[in-house]
Amino acid sequence: MLFIRNGQIVTASDSYRADILCENETITRIGVGLEAPPGATVIDAAGKYIFPGFIDPHVHIYLPFMGTFSKDTYETASKAALVGGTTTLIEMACPPRADEPWAAFELWKSKGEGNSFCDFTFHMGVTRFDERAESQLRQIVKAGISSFKIFLAYKGAFGVDDYELYHTLRLAKELGVIVTAHCENADLVLQRQKMLIAAGKTGPQWHEPSRPEAVEAEGVHHLMTFAFLHDTHCYIVHTSCEPAVRIALAARTRGVKVWIETLIQYLTLDKTHAELPDFEGSKFVMSPPLRDKRNQPFLWDNLANGQISTVATDHAPFDFKGQKEMGREDFTKIPNGIPSLEDRINVLFSTGVKTGRLDIHRFVDCASTQAAKLFGLYPRKGAIAVGSDADLVVYDPNQKWTISAKNQQMAVDYNPFEGMNVTGRPTAVAMRGEIVARDGKFVGQKKRGQFLKREPSHF
Ligand SMILES: [Zn+2]
Repeated sequence: MLFIRNGQIVTASDSYRADILCENETITRIGVGLEAPPGATVIDAAGKYIFPGFIDPHVHIYLPFMGTFSKDTYETASKAALVGGTTTLIEMACPPRADEPWAAFELWKSKGEGNSFCDFTFHMGVTRFDERAESQLRQIVKAGISSFKIFLAYKGAFGVDDYELYHTLRLAKELGVIVTAHCENADLVLQRQKMLIAAGKTGPQWHEPSRPEAVEAEGVHHLMTFAFLHDTHCYIVHTSCEPAVRIALAARTRGVKVWIETLIQYLTLDKTHAELPDFEGSKFVMSPPLRDKRNQPFLWDNLANGQISTVATDHAPFDFKGQKEMGREDFTKIPNGIPSLEDRINVLFSTGVKTGRLDIHRFVDCASTQAAKLFGLYPRKGAIAVGSDADLVVYDPNQKWTISAKNQQMAVDYNPFEGMNVTGRPTAVAMRGEIVARDGKFVGQKKRGQFLKREPSHF
């Protein structure tokens, strides 16, 4: 039993002072002046917020990519998530084209099951579409997956062609599955990479010009055309810039059912980070790239007003030493990814809520509740209500501290927010009723994380 008293409960819609009792992994009572039952673990949350456990809807843990593997395991990634207040993560299962979807689904699931401290589920990557793949995808949806992931980028590795895109969206509509999509025009990226490398422009600062804003906007437009034809629900992952968001919003006004995700990196870092000398810039290479800073007010405004639904991380950790360095002579060989699973909530609270750019309810909504609703986890997750899982974050809004790789759980040799002074931190994190993190330290005992089965929505 867990009893949290005197906290200020803050959800996507409400704010009130109450005590919370959790039994058998779920919230069983919420009220004022409740008594702590004998034997319960008691947390005094006076002066603190209590948020529903946060959900990161876009994470990579097991990722064979660009000739290497991302660094985290479920053990390290789930610890990092929990210490930072994220109690559920959605991983992208991204099989190479040649692999069979069912085997890939089982492989990804096996990496998580028995090895995770937090709950998890997957967006199933559709990296090839033919009759064999289709019948396996139907089976995967029956096994509890209600979202796909497609790539318009990374031709030859994960990317689908237009025939495959068309039929993936057809199947998704039929099954009531939402399609998450990486939108960049793969051919444009390839041609621009060749042009830049041939001109001797090989450093990480050339990554952004190789896939500029227009290339991402074109990818979004392409997806919107296909989504319109099938009336499929789509979710654009890691939207980085104003032109791409504008294309999606325009499609929405003509009736396309589209939701938009941005990342904590795009809100707080910009392309000058990838221009840092001595190859430091490689730590800030991901796709779509960090953009010109002028995009940030637009992203914040559209996050605040709800046009952008969610803030994720696209967590994909590659060490500077030995991994990012693979691209020293050629930026196209730098493994793509900026680790941030651990820091998303604290950076978003500090740079969003504390500065007044983001209303506190919208903060909870974009970092938890929206993802739960879009991906079939609500109200088990993303809510503080009787019957919901007891995933709770007791949050000190005034604690000041400094982010550093020295103290992180993520298994990677740098932190993109190194030296950033932030205000706000979880003082206690509960995952299905058990306290698993306190004051930035992991205190969990057992790997209790479960694979969360999700039903299709048929919207
Ligand atoms: Zn990703």
